[in-house]
Amino acid sequence: MNVNAYGAHAGDKPLEPIQIDRRAPGAHDVQIDIAYCGVCHSDIHQVRAEWAGTLFPCVPGHEIVGRVSAVGAHVTSHKVGDLVGVGCLVDSCKHCEECDAGLENYCDNATGTYNFPTPDAPGHTLGGYSQQIVVHERFALRIRHPEEQLAAVAPLLCAGITTYSPLRHWNAGPGKKIGIVGIGGLGHMGVKLARAMGAHVVAFTTSESKRDDAKALGADEVVVSRNPEEMAAHAKSFDLIVNTVAAPHDLNAFLTLLKRDGTLTLVGAPASPHPSPEVFNLIFKRRSIAGSMIGGIPETQEMLDFCAEHGIVADIELIRADEINDAYERMLKSDVKYRFVIDNATLAA
Ligand code: NAP
Ligand code: ZN
Repeated sequence: MNVNAYGAHAGDKPLEPIQIDRRAPGAHDVQIDIAYCGVCHSDIHQVRAEWAGTLFPCVPGHEIVGRVSAVGAHVTSHKVGDLVGVGCLVDSCKHCEECDAGLENYCDNATGTYNFPTPDAPGHTLGGYSQQIVVHERFALRIRHPEEQLAAVAPLLCAGITTYSPLRHWNAGPGKKIGIVGIGGLGHMGVKLARAMGAHVVAFTTSESKRDDAKALGADEVVVSRNPEEMAAHAKSFDLIVNTVAAPHDLNAFLTLLKRDGTLTLVGAPASPHPSPEVFNLIFKRRSIAGSMIGGIPETQEMLDFCAEHGIVADIELIRADEINDAYERMLKSDVKYRFVIDNATLAA
């Protein structure tokens, strides 16, 4: 079936309206009419070919929410009319060690929501800046928030799980001091989630203008990371720092804030590497640098349910699909509070 979408034909071209084909739902598929799609910084990296291997036409979008409009004959987990979400994955091998553990995000043959090989036209997956998507039922998540919050739920499908997963893995909770670096789409969710888990939360921002906001989001303390004195006041005190920054920068400034056995977890994925950190900053306090990629399907459901229970959604700015190129420019200037979400109804002809 042909549906309307927004995509780009080359890395140096703006996004524009295009038509794409969606397969008819197979026996285990659900077809979703997309209501809203969040705009992740990964969309920019990919569609502008900043990361290797972008396939064109490229239709980004992996923070998808909507309503099930058809199901295959063997689908048991969803029915027509259900509110569901789709994040960064639409399929995986479903039988490797990672899939068996519910860590489909680490499956070597996982299929990303866009830019991954698929038998469907045009040969690679196309994302949520579109009217409809068809996915294997395992990759559609149940949404328990009230329907009025649906647009603000969309960013949970990537920004939410990408911060929730490392916070859980490294045991954020009462008695832990947690830093969140970069108060953008991911970072503002990280602050809300770490706070809801009961940790002491410190937000690190380069934007003086976000100081008050970060407190309102739930940070106990806010540090403007360009200010060396403010940074030094937190030396050797953190259990975990989750770094969401989308550009290369000096990691030493954050490593020295970790206490013994503390971890700096990188989730930001800049197109070029960070300068190599000073080894002595690791050796002296047995500190670690780690990475984390989104989360598995069971943990994504757990995160959505946790957010529904705690009344957590993203802070969003709703845009029309034809405002996407301007939205990208604003994100590059850190000028968004705190996630753009496309109203997919504006894709209708
Ligand atoms: P975003 O909304 O643009 O936020 C990034 C924030 O980083 C900015 O708001 C800004 O916050 C800070 N920042 C930007 N440039 C900076 C610089 N030069 N130096 C220091 N701080 C800077 O982006 P996002 O959607 O949250 O995504 C962030 C990164 O995570 C991207 O690289 C994205 O591809 C990656 N990502 C990774 C995963 C994963 O699974 N690991 C999943 C999704 C996204 P302040 O104004 O507060 O400084
Ligand atoms: Zn994302």
